[in-house]
Amino acid sequence: MTKIQAEYIWLDGCKPSPSLRSKTKILDADDVSRDSVPMWGFDGSSTEQAEGKSSDCLLKPVRVVHDPIRGDNNILVLCEVLNPDGSPHASNTRAKLRDVAARTIEHEPWFGIEQEYTLFQGQKPLAWPSEGTPGPQGPYYCGVGADKIFGRTLVEEHLSASLEAGLTISGINSEVMPGQWEFQVGPVGALEVGDELWLSRWILCRLGEDHGIRVSLSPKPMLGDWNGAGAHTNFSTREMRLPGGIKAVEAACEKLKMKHAEHIAVYGALNEERLTGKHETCSITEFRFGVSDRGASIRIPIFTAQNGAGYLEDRRPAANMDPYLVCAKLLTTVCL
Ligand code: ADP
Ligand code: MN
Ligand code: MN
Ligand code: MN
Repeated sequence: MTKIQAEYIWLDGCKPSPSLRSKTKILDADDVSRDSVPMWGFDGSSTEQAEGKSSDCLLKPVRVVHDPIRGDNNILVLCEVLNPDGSPHASNTRAKLRDVAARTIEHEPWFGIEQEYTLFQGQKPLAWPSEGTPGPQGPYYCGVGADKIFGRTLVEEHLSASLEAGLTISGINSEVMPGQWEFQVGPVGALEVGDELWLSRWILCRLGEDHGIRVSLSPKPMLGDWNGAGAHTNFSTREMRLPGGIKAVEAACEKLKMKHAEHIAVYGALNEERLTGKHETCSITEFRFGVSDRGASIRIPIFTAQNGAGYLEDRRPAANMDPYLVCAKLLTTVCL
């Protein structure tokens, strides 16, 4: 009988930011289709999700994609974590987003997330000299050439693998700090963008293993005159995308202004090291929005201003944010 290798992927309970965990289950090909992948379980006492004396947590498959690394019929199985009684585990942020997404469905929300990340080898970003630092920022963003670009082989592998898995990757670019990169997911719905971002993060970390490269989602991996890493979250509703939608974009910004602190609270740990007001950020204690303004909390892209309709870019979320929490917060503030 043909066997399928199913990699079950979930978020652990680590604070302040969850990490990805995964393990492999062998299934009989005859017994499974993409929407009949069985539930499974794990030892929650090893992932900060349970006490040793009552350690079982359940894995409920919620999104199944082709496994681009193992190939063939093998699959990646993104899961929600449930308690033994079937209720969502306290760490299950996706369950909360599910509820908010269902209540805002008539707004037809779209999200596109720009995931910035930094490649590390040992204690230093990839290809940084063992003594001192590389030359100052300037030539690296979207650069080309071996003196400016570090890690492209892994980055290209990640792009191909994410596309092969069927994820909605919309682009990649090298970033301002050497060894820093970005990929974008979307625009798709809230649950989709969260699921796809976590799956694509998993693929990236997994491929990094083959190169001995660690992927850091730290918002400020190198202190000093180096850019931090964010996860700009681009957001629109149907109303914003229709003619005259710029009014809805501006109204959303006004609502977001009132809830700045609540948003910052779920936009990622250690984000205060990144949101200094320098390096293309707005200070964490301020809220500003503006057209084309990369020093604002929310940027209204130039095409949105010119077309009178489109989307907004929330520049505040940090690279280590949980997209389920960020999308739920945006939907709650803007649509409920
Ligand atoms: P930046 O100029 O900020 O670097 P990017 O090109 O990296 O922008 O990312 C833009 C993101 O906006 C992409 O993820 C894209 O999917 C997303 N996007 C485009 N149109 C919309 C829309 N109408 N609603 C939400 N997101 C959108
Ligand atoms: Mn970008
Ligand atoms: Mn960027
Ligand atoms: Mn951006």
